Amino acid sequence: MSIEYSTINCKTALSPSKLPGLRYSLNPYLGCEHGCRYCYSPSTLRDEWMGLNWGKFVRAKQNIVEVLAREVKRKPKGTVGVSTVCDPYQPLEAKLKLTRKCIELLSRRGFPVSIQTKSSLVLRDVDLIVPEKFDVGVTITTMDRELAGKFEPRASLPDARAQVLEEFSSRGVETWLFLGPIIPEINDSEDGLRQVIEVAHRTHSELIYDKLNLKRWVFDRLAPVLEGRCPGLAERLPDLIRGQSESWRRTCSMVESICRELGVKCEPAFRTHPFTNK
Ligand code: SF4
Repeated sequence: MSIEYSTINCKTALSPSKLPGLRYSLNPYLGCEHGCRYCYSPSTLRDEWMGLNWGKFVRAKQNIVEVLAREVKRKPKGTVGVSTVCDPYQPLEAKLKLTRKCIELLSRRGFPVSIQTKSSLVLRDVDLIVPEKFDVGVTITTMDRELAGKFEPRASLPDARAQVLEEFSSRGVETWLFLGPIIPEINDSEDGLRQVIEVAHRTHSELIYDKLNLKRWVFDRLAPVLEGRCPGLAERLPDLIRGQSESWRRTCSMVESICRELGVKCEPAFRTHPFTNK
């Protein structure tokens, strides 16, 4: 599939964030080539074309480093989430290095940085990502390569993401594993969850888990893949994930019980940030 690449100018680099533990978010790209079928980032952008074409376009914010250089001089210090509505290490970053330049600047100016990615390209920046100033989170929804390829078509393979956690953890950087979304009848088997939680155990990472969020336009992109794997599931899905459904309660208790058994600290998503505890 071809991706449409373009450049834009941004007015702001650091946006206020309401996510737990983050004061700001920084997104060097608009759009995300990883194209995860369950991604709800476009719902925050409120643009129907982007919502339906997520994964097919990337707009690089070509002036973000200059804008950030001005902002770090006048904005109060606080933790910056890199990134919250795109993957900061998606393929275009290998060439443009916008994320690298931004985190280098943030680190030099004393802004703690919390990275979240599904790409092993983050290992390129091990020289910058040091324990005192960074934490690194990696999303792993399954260790099954074929399944990951269906739902996260252009992200790094699960093993490569596990290696990212291993590498940073061995260097003393705080690491966390985001296990989400957990989709009923897709990646919620006890075996599948255990394989992911074992990665958290091995890498001394805290685990954060999350349910599927069917925000705007998610269902349109997700339903065809679900139908291909599990006919009839798309129709039942809204009921399966509603509020405190039986299915979700069962999943939470399975995740928490495996974590207890393996001694992994775990939390449902969006309560607190693992390392700033705000
Ligand atoms: S990597 Fe993250 S931002 Fe990119 S498509 Fe996947 S879920 Fe969305």
